[in-house]
Parts: sequence; C-alpha cells; structure tokens
Amino acid sequence: MELKEIGEFGFIKRFANKFDEFIADDEMGIGDDCAILPIDDKECYVVSTDLLVEDVHFKRNEIDSSELGHKSLAVNLSDIAAMGAAPRFSFLSIAVPDSMSVESLDQFMVGYHALSKKYGVPLMGGDTTKSPDKLIINVAVVGQGKRDDMRLRSMAEEGDVICVSGHLGESAAGLKFVLEHHRRDDLALYMIAKHHCPEPRITEGLWLASQKGVNAMMDISDGVASDLLHILEASNKAAILHVDKIPASKQLQKLCQQKQWSEHVFTMAGGEDYELLFTVKASAFKQISEDFMMQFNKPLFAIGSVLQGDPKIEWQDKGQVVLRDDKGFNHFES
Ligand code: ADP
Ligand code: MG
Repeated sequence: MELKEIGEFGFIKRFANKFDEFIADDEMGIGDDCAILPIDDKECYVVSTDLLVEDVHFKRNEIDSSELGHKSLAVNLSDIAAMGAAPRFSFLSIAVPDSMSVESLDQFMVGYHALSKKYGVPLMGGDTTKSPDKLIINVAVVGQGKRDDMRLRSMAEEGDVICVSGHLGESAAGLKFVLEHHRRDDLALYMIAKHHCPEPRITEGLWLASQKGVNAMMDISDGVASDLLHILEASNKAAILHVDKIPASKQLQKLCQQKQWSEHVFTMAGGEDYELLFTVKASAFKQISEDFMMQFNKPLFAIGSVLQGDPKIEWQDKGQVVLRDDKGFNHFES
C-alpha cells in the first residue's frame, strides 16, 4: 500500500492513540497545532515541528535562500501563534546536497536569524548532514504560555462565529506563478513574495488567546476549507461557511479580474496563508472585533458559524446553499 492511498492523516491515525496510555492527563500530544507540556499549575510549553522538502514544499531555484530561511521558521512560529503562546526557542536540522553553496547556506541563516530576532526566539540547536540530492529542512519551535490561555481545535462551541485574521488566497496565487509559466508583473511578484515570506500572526494569536470569548483556534496552512474541518472534527461540530464573506485582498481581486481566474479557488482551497482561523462566542463577537481593529488597525473577518451536528461544512453564497468539489464551487469554475 502506498501512503497516498490513506493520506497523511490516515497514517497519523494508525499510530496516534497508541501513545495516549503514557501521556499524562494534563499533557496533550498529537492532534493540534502544537503539543502541550505543562511546566507547573499555571504555565506550559508548546512544541511544534515542521518539515520542508525541496520540490515538495519549495523550488530551490525560485525562492531566495534568505526567504527560505525566513519561511522555515515562520511556518513553525505560526503553529505557536495558533495555540496563543509566545515563541521561546527553535531547533534547526538541515540535510544539504552538494549543489547548495556555503554562500546560499549563509543567506538561509540571514533570513532565519532576522525572523528569530524579530520575535526574540534564539536558535538553540539542531543537526546538519549531507543529502544526496534535495535540500531538506526541519525546524522545531518551543513556545510558552498560560495553560488557561491555550486555544485548542477542540474548543469550538455551538453558535460561535468563525473568523479569520486576514485576507486569504494570496499565497496560493503566488504558488501558481511559481509552478506555471505566466508573465511576472508587479502584481505577480507581490503574490510570490506572500508565498515565500509569510508573516506568523504571533501578536494576534497572543491577543486573541487573552480574550475570554475566543474559543477554538488554529492556523491556516492547508486552506480554510480543510483546516476548518480539523476544528469541526476535534470539536464534533458542523459549520456554515459563507463563500461571499471569505476575504480576498484588493490585489488578489485585481489579479483574478485580469487573468479571469476564480478568486474562490485561491481563497478557499489555497494553502499557506498562515492567517489564524478561530471561533468567537456570538455574544462576544462585536466587542472582540472592535477591539481587534483598535489593537491591530485591521479588521477580523467573520466567515461563518458553528452548528450542532456531525463534522461537515455547509457552503452558502449570499444565503443560498452551494456545492463544492475539489476544484472549488461548481458554479464558480472557470
Ligand atoms: P500543522 O499543519 O498544524 O503543522 P499537521 O496537519 O502537520 O499540523 O499535523 C497534524 C497533527 O499530527 C499534529 O499534531 C502533528 O504534530 C501530528 N503529526 C504529524 N505527523 C506526525 C508524525 N510523523 N508523528 C507524530 N505526529 C505527527
Ligand atoms: Mg497548524
């Protein structure tokens, strides 16, 4: 049997619960953006690790080495943000092919160091080895927070408003330019930069976790549709998502108009935005959205609501139920 037959999550399910018997009640292992390791009654560490493989997650001739260094750390910091914790330390393991120069490796570390410095997260260790062909990067990050502040995927409640912390789809549009041959004007370069240099929402995550009305939280790495399903499965809830409320930036709207591309394919199914996806108690939503605007000078976007029921998403467009397939929405296909 090949892995693609059961998928990444199918594989994880085959072994995940075998470890539960030696995980303490107040610890949390596989299944959320980070593991939770209590320090004392009040504080905990959170830990996340992510792997980036050349030609699976990036094209080495497309991304600047310094951007790759930034992105390798950023995707891990995003998982720390998704718990509502502050990043503390990182570890970097790297398998380097002969075709990668020391100058490129130095540049990689320039990007890694700059983002580390921005959030005060020192690199504390790792491993370096050679690789026969492809560049392989693994980063692990340790964060810290108050145990009561940690926001799990399992915390969504009936009636919650589903929110995102920013525009979606730009990274996926950038990826399209990386993978396909389209002319690269300024708009294209802007999208590619979004794909190569995501900004982890650390300050937003910390602030949201300090708000009592914020329930479940995760980061959007695979696309809002599939990531929301993780929240619904962990919380055993259903949801309505409003296609017309998923936020696309002015730049993405302009690009899609110019190219006659479907905006929704990028915003809904595209991954690697690294915005936060979270649910807010309905009665707290107005206050939290106003305070979010005051704090960050940008809106949060309400895109749906949590319902009682089996984990699935009902899609609506301007109040009408619409059907979605792998390529997007059947009436949006270009
Ligand atoms: P994320 O996108 O937030 O990084 P993933 O979807 O990659 O999370 O992983 C889902 C969960 O499965 C996480 O809790 C992760 O730690 C766990 N996981 C993934 N692969 C493995 C593995 N090989 N061994 C143990 N746990 C894993
Ligand atoms: Mg995540």
